[in-house]
Order: sequence, then C-alpha cells, then structure tokens
Amino acid sequence: MSRFWSPIVHSLTPYVPGEQPRMANLIKLNTNECPYGPSPKVIEAIRAATNDTLRLYPDPTAHALCTAIATAHDVPVDHVFVGNGSDEVLAHVFQGLLNHDAPLLFPDITYSFYPVYCGLYGIRHETVPLDSAMGIDIAAYRRPCGGIILPNPNAPTGIALGLDEICTVLRDHPEAVVVVDEAYVDFGAETAIPLVAEHPNLLVVRTLSKSSALAGLRVGYAIGQPDLIAALTRIKDSFNSYPLDRLAQVGAIAAIEDREWLANTSARIISSRNRLTDSLGKMGFEVLPSRANFVFARHPDRDGAQLAAALRARAIIVRHFRTPRIAQWLRITIGTDAECQALIQGLADVLALNE
Ligand code: PMP
Repeated sequence: MSRFWSPIVHSLTPYVPGEQPRMANLIKLNTNECPYGPSPKVIEAIRAATNDTLRLYPDPTAHALCTAIATAHDVPVDHVFVGNGSDEVLAHVFQGLLNHDAPLLFPDITYSFYPVYCGLYGIRHETVPLDSAMGIDIAAYRRPCGGIILPNPNAPTGIALGLDEICTVLRDHPEAVVVVDEAYVDFGAETAIPLVAEHPNLLVVRTLSKSSALAGLRVGYAIGQPDLIAALTRIKDSFNSYPLDRLAQVGAIAAIEDREWLANTSARIISSRNRLTDSLGKMGFEVLPSRANFVFARHPDRDGAQLAAALRARAIIVRHFRTPRIAQWLRITIGTDAECQALIQGLADVLALNE
C-alpha cells in the first residue's frame, strides 16, 4: 500500500500470468503455446525486414496486415482492427465497447483476465455460472446487460458453443455488443466471423499466439462492422500507440498467408489432443470434450494442486487454478507427442506412488 497510489491501483487485483519458468529442460504444458515453431515463411519475412528500414516508424494503420487479414476471412478491410496480442485488443474492447452502466456478462469460469479489465476500467460485471456439464448456458444470458463476452471455445474448459447458440445470444441482445473471443477457434470450433455481416453488435477477437505459434510476436485482431472498429481506433489513437512494430507486421502477414501451415499444424495438434484424451481417460481421468489446444481433466480421487506439484517435481508444468469449483482440475496444453507421452508417464508414476 502506498500513499502515492491512486484509488484504482489500490482496488486492483492484477492478473497472475501463467508461469514462464527460467529453468531449461522443462516440459512446459501450462500456457497453451504451440509446441512447434511458426511457419518458416514467418522467419524468412522477419529476416528480410531486419534491415535499415528499422529506423523508420511502422505503418500506424498496419494497412498491409489488415488487408491480409481481411482477405483471409473474406471481409472488407474496414472490418479489421489489429493490436499487440489479443490482450491489447481486448483492453480496447473493454474500454471502448463494454464500458456501460448496465453490467457486462461473462461465464464464472473463463479467461481470468476479463475481471481484471473490469477492475482496471471500472466496469460493472456479473458472472454467469456454467451448466452442470461445465458448458456455457446460453439461456442464462437472457437478462439486461451492457455487453457480453464469450470465449469460444471457453478457457480453461475447452468446450465450444455452436454458431446457432451464438446467433441466439446476438438476437436476444441487439442493443449490446457481444464479443466472441476466438483465441482457440482453429483447433476444431466454428468461427463466428461469417455472422459479422448480419450482426452489427458482433465483434470477433482473434490471436496469432496459439494456432500460428507466434505468442512471442504479440499479434491479435478483431473483426466487426466499421462502427465497432471505429470505437477501437479512437481508443488506440488516444494512446498515440502503434498497433504493431515493423517486424511483427511483416511476420503476421506471412503467418496469415501461409494457410497450409496453419491447417497442417492445427490438424497435428487435434490428433495429439485426441490421443491424450484417450490416454487420460484410460487412467481414470474425466476429460472435458476439448476443441482447443489444451485439455481440462480431473482425477476423481486426487487433488489438482497435489497432482500439479507432483508433476512439477518431475519437471512437467501444467496449469492449476485455485478457484474452488475447478480446484480438482488440471489444464494441460497439448505438447509434442513426446511431451504428451512424458506427461502420461509422469501421471502414471504419481498415481502408482500415491504422491
Ligand atoms: N483470450 C483467451 C481466452 C486466452 O486464453 C488468451 C491467452 N492467455 C488470450 C485471449 C490472449 O492471448 P494473446 O494476448 O497472446 O493474443
């Protein structure tokens, strides 16, 4: 506590990011990064741009990147907004589109940054409980609100909504902005981007951190009708910030254009996920039906925190949340097949030794 701090700083409960350990030789299955390197075309593009043009400021409108994104998703370029990771895009969304008198709605078990943004921007919010199968209960969102944010698939459960369910929410709330956070959509869920043309209240938020293996480059974007994009641009311009540096812009363009790499890598991760789900099931774990690059699993007889600690002692890091309803669960990022195998072996040892 400090007498120099503003009241808002005193009241904040900051987000605790997934651990980025400094030790080498760890099996790191805790922050949903891609286990494979990005498209070689991304590395080539960044190398080619690493020259004396770095003395110049980047394009503040990131026009070439917005055009590549618009082409990839078959939307007009004025429907695209880019930022430094989807976290920055979401920050502008919370401040510019979700900051109303009525409460913002989101699931009670979801990406834990949402309540942090609410604290930062003074946004009133209500959490909506997941249903008994840990899915998002669409009917429960039928209540007055100042906006809705739905991650699809949800994190950390990995469970996805169908487009029909998202349409229902959009129709139930024509006067509120509905944000669909598609950080993990490329691993088997359906994108809501085709709904944007008919729904002026829909904003879809994406990231290159997961399926494009570019968490280190920090690129995210939003797709919505120009009215919503204009609000985000106003916020961005009020910071006089650049959306992305020169290397991130060219790297992101190469990633977006290499659709074959994306399709192959996502397919590889999906088949590893299916194998891991089977193996965990055979060991007695309950595993939720994931459409993401992670699984959410619990053992009926074992405490999640203890399992996570026992794995850590074997140099395997997974994510455990202290939230009471999910304290028994582990969120495990899909690694390479060798990493998944090591995880299974580690868990088998821990269960056999009753650690
Ligand atoms: N949304 C969800 C649901 C996430 O899990 C994450 C990653 N932690 C993000 C957004 C942010 O991703 P990034 O800032 O790397 O684009």
